[in-house]
Amino acid sequence: MQTARIDLHLHLDGSLNLAWAYKKALLRNAVDPKTTFEEFYNIVYANNLKDRALSIRKFELMCDVLQYREDLYEATFDLVHTLWEEGLFYAEIRFASQQHTKCGLSQKDALQAVIDGAADAMDHFPGIRIGIINCMMHKGDSAAFNEAENRETIRVTKELLGKGAVGLDLAGFENNTTFLDYAPLFAVAAAEGIPYTMHAGEMGIGTHVLDALQMGADRIGHGVNCVQDPKILEAVLDANIPLEVCVSSNVKRDLNYAAHPVRFLIDQGAKVTLNEDNRVFARTTLPNEHALMKMIGITEDQLMQCTYNAVEAAFCDDDTKEWLYDRLEEDYLK
Ligand SMILES: [Zn+2]
Repeated sequence: MQTARIDLHLHLDGSLNLAWAYKKALLRNAVDPKTTFEEFYNIVYANNLKDRALSIRKFELMCDVLQYREDLYEATFDLVHTLWEEGLFYAEIRFASQQHTKCGLSQKDALQAVIDGAADAMDHFPGIRIGIINCMMHKGDSAAFNEAENRETIRVTKELLGKGAVGLDLAGFENNTTFLDYAPLFAVAAAEGIPYTMHAGEMGIGTHVLDALQMGADRIGHGVNCVQDPKILEAVLDANIPLEVCVSSNVKRDLNYAAHPVRFLIDQGAKVTLNEDNRVFARTTLPNEHALMKMIGITEDQLMQCTYNAVEAAFCDDDTKEWLYDRLEEDYLK
């Protein structure tokens, strides 16, 4: 039985086909024209994923190759094609429209290009549904740094909500500022009726998960550092809030999968979903994540529960959820 059917946490810019990205990087002057594919590969696929400067450089480079409508469209189309080939039924692909305005696109243009790429891919590859999450960015040393851009992110997401966009996120570096500085922005999102998740308790301390709960998050991006304190874990369990867990992304290459809190969280009854995060940087796929989870003792029933948790937590409409439940039921009967 294949359980790897739903991904709720998948970044477009961290999941590009590298040969395509290299071609675009040259075309768009995002790298020195003498850069070889091997050198490009080494920058974006380099081993030390814990190096913050290198990590920022990789994301910047991937964003630099996604500054034109056709490039955002092609990248999204290709990603959906790949997910479809891997047997996924549904994915929420996220990106930050404010990171793609360097060459004249508006945030709305950027969001529309990604939505169009996903829509055309869904037409070409029936059997997969896609929702787009737009990310506010956590950068600078206070929320004021890019508050105007984040407000515009909320505005364009509201405009295209239900027309391809399904929700909001807060991504970037969660330790840059006081996390609760973003509360006024999420108050706007809540007032607009936009579902939202936020990266919390990934690189940051577990108390950020409490802050996210306080800010009304519908789901938590990662959230695994809630295990740092039993009181935080208790709050997560009491709220029954879905956690978008991305194990390979956290574990990276030099740590131990068995040491990751995912098993503990599942055993405690947390509403865990399993996701890729960044396919390139985490060097993974969703089927790979599920296979790795089996290797550390997570049962097939538990994996299926994670998949059902993902349907319940998805930001899609009720018709799509019904369709997903039916497809999972067909899977189960096979
Ligand atoms: Zn993420």
